[in-house]
Amino acid sequence: MPMKRVLVTGGAGFLGSHLCERLVEQGHDVICLDNFFTSQKSNVLHLLDHNNFELIRHDVTHPIWLEVDQVYNLACPAAPGHYQYNPIKTMKTSVMGAINTLGMAKRCNARILQASTSEVYGDPTVHPQTEDYRGNVNPIGPRACYDEGKRAAETLFMDYYRRHGIDMRIARIFNTYGPRMHPFDGRVVSNFILQALMGRDITIFGDGSQTRSFCYRDDLVEGLMRLMNAEEGDLQNPVNLGNESEFTIKQLAELVIEITGSKSSVIYQDLPADDPLQRQPDITRARKLLGWEPTIALREGLEKTIEHFRKVDLSEYREPTPNHAIA
Ligand code: NAD
Ligand code: UDP
Repeated sequence: MPMKRVLVTGGAGFLGSHLCERLVEQGHDVICLDNFFTSQKSNVLHLLDHNNFELIRHDVTHPIWLEVDQVYNLACPAAPGHYQYNPIKTMKTSVMGAINTLGMAKRCNARILQASTSEVYGDPTVHPQTEDYRGNVNPIGPRACYDEGKRAAETLFMDYYRRHGIDMRIARIFNTYGPRMHPFDGRVVSNFILQALMGRDITIFGDGSQTRSFCYRDDLVEGLMRLMNAEEGDLQNPVNLGNESEFTIKQLAELVIEITGSKSSVIYQDLPADDPLQRQPDITRARKLLGWEPTIALREGLEKTIEHFRKVDLSEYREPTPNHAIA
């Protein structure tokens, strides 16, 4: 593949840092742009001495002036606790971030991929979720800043495509986990693993019968890169990326306890408002267009993630701070 200049917004984050690693390995000229709201430099420190890697501290709500061939727009807090920390800023990041990156892609004729989310389906009434399902989102609930922000970003991507012929892709990413997740992000996989390793109670919200389908980080990033570089077929409409294997949250807790050998007990707490009851991707389109499907089963992925969390230096991580989230 010829060398390209690639911008990754949110490039210091959980998925972004792994994507940057893969792109650097392939010899591309990689610019990682991040404001470190939910990440820190340590995620990309090992890339800094590569000649084909640059790191820029910047907030995507402000215009960006760079010359690149491809843009992966990942900048946005992704965990409920993080995106609800400053919901107005979250909405701005999705909407202004889309406008600024699309404007840049338009000016330099770059191809641009939006990291959208299964949250555009809200609490789905169709199961599994296909891309033509329009969703069941509460526009005024506590998750709306993220869900509606991502929906607005999709609208902007489609309108820039229809109006300006922008070369764009939309990936609807389902729950993804793996090494380098933020340990305090409050997401279920990181929470359960840390709780199990520290011997603390495992906190199941609700009765644990709600489902999610968990995709390992490497599979997901492979899907993103395939979607970006695919040339044939209906690539402008959104593509679901996720693992089809669906688990209840209770099953996840049991698996984490088994793999870690933890003595933790399970406790039940209130289910947060608007928490989707079930979620499973239909990945027929990804299979057909990209020849992609996940290869790493939950048990194997959890083993790798648990290994990572056993070694992690928790003092490297901090909770989001107000000065990173000023609206
Ligand atoms: P993450 O929080 O680790 O990464 C997001 C990155 O964006 C962080 O490095 C953060 O500092 C940065 N960021 C946030 N606001 C910014 C701003 N205004 N300007 C510049 N940088 C900013 O989360 P992640 O899991 O790596 O998610 C990456 C992308 O994938 C996000 O857009 C997210 O919505 C999407 N996604 C992730 C999942 C998942 O399960 N991990 C699921 C669906 C969608
Ligand atoms: N969850 C839980 N215990 C936790 C954290 C999350 O039971 O300590 C539940 C949460 O209510 C949701 C599911 O796990 O039903 C997935 O939550 P997460 O925040 O990881 O992702 P999302 O809800 O955005 O899919």
